[in-house]
Parts: sequence; C-alpha cells; structure tokens
Amino acid sequence: MKQIPKILLIYTGGTIGMIMDFKTGALENFNFNELLTYVPELNLLDCSISTKSFKKPIDSSNMNPDYWVRLTTIIEKNYDTYDGFVVLHGSDTMSYTASVISFMTENLAKPIIFTGSQLPIGDLRTDAKENLITSIQLAALQHKGNPRIAEVCLYFEYKLYRANRTTKINAQHFQAFASLNYPPLAESGVELSINEEALLIPNRRKKFRVFKELGKGIVLLKMFPGMDAQTFRHIVSYDEIQGLIIETYGSGNVTTQTWFLSGLKKLIGRGIPVINVTQCSGGSVNMGLYHTSVALKKLGVISGKDITTEAAVAKLMYLLGHGISSKSFRTIFETSLRGEMS
Ligand code: ASP
Repeated sequence: MKQIPKILLIYTGGTIGMIMDFKTGALENFNFNELLTYVPELNLLDCSISTKSFKKPIDSSNMNPDYWVRLTTIIEKNYDTYDGFVVLHGSDTMSYTASVISFMTENLAKPIIFTGSQLPIGDLRTDAKENLITSIQLAALQHKGNPRIAEVCLYFEYKLYRANRTTKINAQHFQAFASLNYPPLAESGVELSINEEALLIPNRRKKFRVFKELGKGIVLLKMFPGMDAQTFRHIVSYDEIQGLIIETYGSGNVTTQTWFLSGLKKLIGRGIPVINVTQCSGGSVNMGLYHTSVALKKLGVISGKDITTEAAVAKLMYLLGHGISSKSFRTIFETSLRGEMS
C-alpha cells in the first residue's frame, strides 16, 4: 500500500498562531493542539500531519541562537520519521532564522518550509490558511519516493523561495517577502508550478547532521553619510568582535576617508573577517568597479557578492563556529554553500 507522506509542523510563535481574545481585544497564542479546529481543511490533505510547539511560543523579534538550536534539535530528532517539515514563525525575523537553519542543517535531503502570516489565523481575512496549507502541500510533494524539494524554503503569498535568498520587505502587505537575486522555487496558482531548474539537488548518500556551535561576536554596520569617526573607531576596537559585516552602498562602495579604511585595516590585521554586502535589496557587490571600493579589495575585505544581509549574518555565525582559519575564510565565505549566492 502506498504510504502517505508524513509532515511535522513546528510552531515557534508569531502572528500566524494567534487569535483575538474577544474579552480583552488583544491577540494571544492559541492552543496549537487545537489547530484542526481552526483549519479543518488540513484533514483533507493527502499527508499525515503531526505537530510540535515551542513550550512558550515567541514573537520572532525575540528569536536568538538558543532558539535556533532548539529548532534544529527538534528537526534532528524527527528527521528519520518525517518526510518534510513546516515551521511556523513570525515574519519579522523569519529570513534570519530560515537562513541560519539552511546552514545548520548539513546534507539536508528533505524540505524544511518556513511560513507565517500577516494576519492571525483566527482573523476572517487571514492569509494564514493559504500559507499554511500550501506549505504543507509543498513539503509533502514526492518524486520517485523522495521529497521533491530538499532544501530550506520560505513560503509566503503564493510563492516558495529559497529561504536564504529572502528578505522581509513589507510590514503591511500580504506579499511580505522578496527574493530579488533568485527566482521563486515554486508558485501557487490554479496549479502548483515547480521551477525544477532552480531547486538544489541533494546528495542523498551523505548523512544528515545538524551543526549547533554558532559563532558569536558579530557586528553588522550599515554605512550612512555622516557616520562618525569616533563611533566607528570604538566599534572596530571592541575586543570581543569576531566578525564584521559592512552594509555598503550600491555595488559595495564606502567612504574613502582615512579613519574608516585604517579602522578596517586594523581589524583585518587582527585576523577578523570583514564582509562586504550591499544595502541595496537586489544586485551584487563588485569591489573594484568604483574607486570607492578599490581600497576594500586591497585590504582583503571579503565579497558577499549578491548575498542578503540575513544570509550573511547566518553564514558568518556558521563559519565562525567551525573555527575556520583566517587564511581560508575568504575562499569559503565567497563560495556558495547552500545556494545563498550566485
Ligand atoms: N511580530 C510578529 C513576529 O514576527 C509578526 C509576525 O508574526 O508576522 O513574531
């Protein structure tokens, strides 16, 4: 007899799992075990669904590496039992979590699909139901006995994206996410259409494992005209700093003032990796294209190419956790590990 796919639905928190308390008018988390009461349509899906919830669901603004370890531990313990995972998460930091999980889950050969919603599941006009139902359907897709999708994804408002390519772009619209440097992996219309060519191909012979020792001491600095020399010096002379990401202008450009460049030079001299990512939502860093990025290249700043800031933070934590030497750090960072850069 044909076995139906088994999906594990993990609830971490966020708007999607909330209902209105009619007495107080405030939004609160609903009892996740009663999910079927709110979305009876789940009974109609051609897969079996089990659920797990964080004991205390959180607003994703409180997300942190300890929760990431908790989440990957749930996936690790249940990896062999389930065919796919759907993670319900607040949209605010979903791209950060989903990006980091894409690095922490090594040799992944099953789908982990993140979703959430802009309106609570208990709201009449909610976007939660479609997001939830289609995410489960996508996670349950099979091809020749294997999951059709085998990577960490984010599904929102009719589009499935590679998670580590996404950014939250809107706080109000149902279309809250974008992936400007990589096409959607699937789109939901009258049919679910899969963009086969865009999918990652897993190596099913390698054993799945979870990496949990994320590095600490990361600083993320957004360039802006008028950045103060004193403040910058203070940041780069911080003892505990392990890695710096600079969000630069356009194709990777920065101010050429001496205090800025010499601050970076000192940091790189201490063996601290400095990553250049663009503050534009789309496009790529290209150091050397303009005079204002030539010095960065000479100093040994690492190019984030077309990586998102969220994925750069995730990758930096992941690589620092591996204790990679400063010699090979640049080569490894500039190599795509999970399809996060072109
Ligand atoms: N503040 C909420 C969160 O990120 C918003 C949402 O769920 O979309 O947890």
